[in-house]
Amino acid sequence: MDCLFCKIAQKEIPARVAYEDQDILVFEDIAPKAPVHLLIIPRRHITSLNELASADVMLAGKLLLTAKKCAQEKGISDDGYRLVFNCNEAGGQTVFHLHAHLMGGRSLTWPPG
Ligand code: 5GP
Ligand code: ZN
Repeated sequence: MDCLFCKIAQKEIPARVAYEDQDILVFEDIAPKAPVHLLIIPRRHITSLNELASADVMLAGKLLLTAKKCAQEKGISDDGYRLVFNCNEAGGQTVFHLHAHLMGGRSLTWPPG
């Protein structure tokens, strides 16, 4: 499959990895929108949040708990941060492999554009 994030998960394309285990990879966004901007992805290809299945409930929980842990490790937990899943075109998704953006290190405005 010609998927950028699958290639990053398989180490065919380099990335600055912040955390990894058998299910999840966390790496720095190549074009950071905040001082901390990490992408949290499942290793397995899931196209978007729309394709996340009931059977993926453990994986979904791990994505959230991994985000929390990375926020703690980056020192942004107390000040605050944002976790975002963009889904499909109107949601701003450009890479069609499920990922959460973990952003922090500055005050983020609301609502996003
Ligand atoms: P989306 O727009 O799909 O929600 O987010 C995709 C994110 O992937 C963007 O923030 C973009 O900067 C990031 N990105 C795109 N290509 C690469 C890449 O080759 N390496 C890394 N580390 N991030 C990428
Ligand atoms: Zn993929």
